[in-house]
Amino acid sequence: MKIVKIETFILKDTLSKSFFFSQWEYSERCICIVKVTASNGQYGWGEGYGPASVLEAGIELLKPIVLGLNPLENEVVWNTMYRKTLDFARRGTLVASISAIDIAIWDLKGKILNLPVATLLGGAHRDKIRPYATGLYFTSHDNPSQEFDEEARKYVSQGFKAIKMKVGLGIEEDFKNVKRMREVVGDDIQLMVDSNHAYNFREAVLLAKKIEPFNISWFEEPLSPEFYHQYNELRSKTTIPISGGECEYLRFGFHQLLRNRSVDIIQPDICACGGLTEAKRIGTLATTYGVEVIPHTWGTSIGIHVALHFIANLEAMPGRMKSPDFLIEYDQTENALREQLTFPAIEMKDGMIEVPNRPGLGIDVNEEVLRKFAIPKDKIKSTL
Ligand SMILES: [Mg+2]
Repeated sequence: MKIVKIETFILKDTLSKSFFFSQWEYSERCICIVKVTASNGQYGWGEGYGPASVLEAGIELLKPIVLGLNPLENEVVWNTMYRKTLDFARRGTLVASISAIDIAIWDLKGKILNLPVATLLGGAHRDKIRPYATGLYFTSHDNPSQEFDEEARKYVSQGFKAIKMKVGLGIEEDFKNVKRMREVVGDDIQLMVDSNHAYNFREAVLLAKKIEPFNISWFEEPLSPEFYHQYNELRSKTTIPISGGECEYLRFGFHQLLRNRSVDIIQPDICACGGLTEAKRIGTLATTYGVEVIPHTWGTSIGIHVALHFIANLEAMPGRMKSPDFLIEYDQTENALREQLTFPAIEMKDGMIEVPNRPGLGIDVNEEVLRKFAIPKDKIKSTL
C-alpha cells in the first residue's frame, strides 16, 4: 500500500456579516484542506489551521517525500515530514501543513482498516462529547457586544451547557460584558472568557480579579503566548483556571507550557500542532503534569471530527466513577464550510455530540460543495 496522490484545495466563503475579536476582523473564511489517496483508490481528508495559501505551499513542499510511503505507517510518515522541516520551521505554518497531511493519513488508515480513528488511537473512553459554544464575538465597533444577550439566549435554548465569550476590549468594558453575560445565562451554564492574548500581566491580573465572582470556568490566552513565566505568575494570583496553547506547536512547545506550569488547561489545535500523531503525544505528556486537555478547534467539520475522535480517546486524569463530561470546542459563528462541506452532518442531541463509529473520521466530503467553495488555482493569493 502506497500514497499515490496528494491534492490541496483552498476553500473560501465570504461572510454575510463580518465580526471581530481583540486582534482582527473576519470577513471571510479561507481554509486549506488536503486529500490523500492510496494505491488501492481509497482516500482520506485533512485540514490545516493557518493562512491557507502558506499551508498549501507547505504541503507542496512535503508532497515529494510523502508520495510512495505506506499510509498505514503514519508515525514513519510523520517523522519523515518532521525531519524535512526541522531546520526551517519548528513552529508555525509548516507544522500546520504536516498536520493536514497527518490527519488525512489517519482518516485514510481508518478507511483502509475499516476502523474509526478513535479505535486506531487506542479506543474511545466515551461515546459522547459535550460541546461548548464558541461565539459572542464583537459585531459592531460602536457597540461591540450589542448582540450578546440574544446570541447567548440562543445557545442556552439550543441545549449548550457551556459558552465561551470574547473579552479583550479593555478591563472596564470586559467586566461589564462578563457581569451581564452571567445574568443572562444564569448560574447553571459554564462560562469561559477568551482574550486572545490581548493583555499585559498587570491588566490580566486586574481583569481576572474583577471577574472572579462570576464563576468563570477558564480565562483563555490572557497574555501573549511567549510569556510562559507570566502565565505561571498569573495562576498564583487568581482562582480562575488559566488556559492556552492554540498558538503552540509540537510536543516540545507544549512541554514549555507544562514545565513552566503556565496553564491549568492546554488547548492544542490538532490541525496546527503537528496533527493527530503529535496531539496524541501532547495529550500523554499533559497527563504527566496533571493538566487537562481541551483542544482548540476552528475551521471545517473535518477539524471538528478529528477533535471528536481525539477527545474520545483522552485519558481521564485522575479517573473516578463520576468523571465530568469532556468538552469539545464548537464554533457557532457563521461558517458554511463547517455546516456544508462534509456529511453526515454534525448533530447535537441533548447537549451532546456522538463520536462517530464509522471508519476513519466517519465523514466524507461533499464534492459539489467542495467545487462551490474551492478557489481556482490561478486566483489564489495570500490572505491572513
Ligand atoms: Mg481561543
